[in-house]
Amino acid sequence: MLTLENFSLKIDPTIFNRGEKYFLQNRVQELIEVKDGVWKAIVDGSEVYEIEVKINSNGEIETICSCPYDFGHHCKHEVAMLLAIKAALNRRDEAFPLVMKISKKTKKSRNKTAAIKKWLKESSKEELKEFMLKFCDSNREFKNSLYLQTLKNENIPIKNQK
Ligand SMILES: [Zn+2]
Repeated sequence: MLTLENFSLKIDPTIFNRGEKYFLQNRVQELIEVKDGVWKAIVDGSEVYEIEVKINSNGEIETICSCPYDFGHHCKHEVAMLLAIKAALNRRDEAFPLVMKISKKTKKSRNKTAAIKKWLKESSKEELKEFMLKFCDSNREFKNSLYLQTLKNENIPIKNQK
């Protein structure tokens, strides 16, 4: 069974090294978790290929790549994408402890919204800015929502601005 933890050992070393090079060259683009455990991205190599990775609840990885080399084997594009997913998940874990710290304080409260509100109230503007930027990296939906917000602000007629 191929998982995020063991793929670096299970995939043919030649293919793995090529994929790692692609990853380090930032060739994995538009990485997005379309729903829980399902990731899509494009990898820009000699041609641009689309890849989908599904991580099942038991950790097993299923991959589909649009390149011609994906016949029963794993290709370098998939390796690059799996490394990118690992990196994205690590960044997300780094962002989470901030929230965890607060939820410990409000252990009795089962209400997540209340805990988040409290955290927002207690955090400084700088902390929040840093968190939002970090979260943008790992959550495209959040990034898009924020971006829409910037457009909204631009659309406010000048006479209404203070
Ligand atoms: Zn491929």
